[in-house]
Amino acid sequence: MTINSVGIIGAGTMGNGIAQACAVVGLKVTMVDINEAAVNKGIATVSGSLDRLIKKEKLTAEQKAAAMALIQGSTDYADLQGADIVIEAATENHALKIKILQLLDEALPPETLVATNTSSISITQLAAVTKRAERFIGMHFFNPVPMMALVEIIRGLQTSDATHDAVKELALRLGKSPITVRNAPGFVVNRILVPMINEAFFVLAEGLASAEDIDAGMKLGCNQPIGPLALADMVGLDVCLAVMEVYLKEFGDSKYRPCPLLKEMVAAGRLGRKTGRGVYSY
Ligand code: NAD
Repeated sequence: MTINSVGIIGAGTMGNGIAQACAVVGLKVTMVDINEAAVNKGIATVSGSLDRLIKKEKLTAEQKAAAMALIQGSTDYADLQGADIVIEAATENHALKIKILQLLDEALPPETLVATNTSSISITQLAAVTKRAERFIGMHFFNPVPMMALVEIIRGLQTSDATHDAVKELALRLGKSPITVRNAPGFVVNRILVPMINEAFFVLAEGLASAEDIDAGMKLGCNQPIGPLALADMVGLDVCLAVMEVYLKEFGDSKYRPCPLLKEMVAAGRLGRKTGRGVYSY
């Protein structure tokens, strides 16, 4: 099955990034959000992002116009009927995602594929609430979508080979490098990344080195573009803590216990860049 038309639920950070990635390679996009303001903001974000590419001479004005002409905004799920696949990229909330998937089951023909961009919710569990479990899959993009090469394709227990192959082909068409992952908390990248950040907090708490030296060590010694503590400040310490708590609960393995210093800093409201202070001050 070849995908030519993509529906997107959510015009936020990830939704508009996915819309841009699809439109620049010539796919028709319908992007749905809860109100006109959210839809228009998403479309304006794509326009601004393409303007920056024109400034950098990575895109022509004609190519921008062609891409923008392929993006249609809407607040009505019925407008998604002609899509070959709908990618759900709405707010990370389990109950909300279940509601959206049920609305999609009503609005879409049975053959339409549905993917979710969730970072933390089980693909197998979400598949089970749809009427199209075999045609449901995880498609986990990374932020900012137009820049980041990776897409994790997550197979639920029920996902068919045909669905997997079509979604992999779509990811390649978007110029991404997909990896295929079996469903489990954190998938692959966050499963490794977040415990590494947590370990950096243990190292800091034990006074083995300063925050600056821990980050310099991982940058210079492992070729990481940013140290784990600076990354925690970007992601949000509360998000890192919540992810570790999910791993501890789901795997029942004490190796995922959150570092007490991480908990303490979250309790103090030091959540990172978004609050002006985390490991570092901003
Ligand atoms: P966001 O808050 O920027 O955007 C979410 C959008 O969904 C908002 O515009 C909101 O109005 C809309 N929305 C809420 N309910 C809706 C509904 N019923 N129908 C249509 N739209 C609705 O969030 P985001 O950062 O873009 O995250 C979206 C998803 O992507 C989440 O599942 C998140 O876990 C995942 N994700 C985020 C990142 C990231 O770095 N931001 C990375 C990978 C995956």
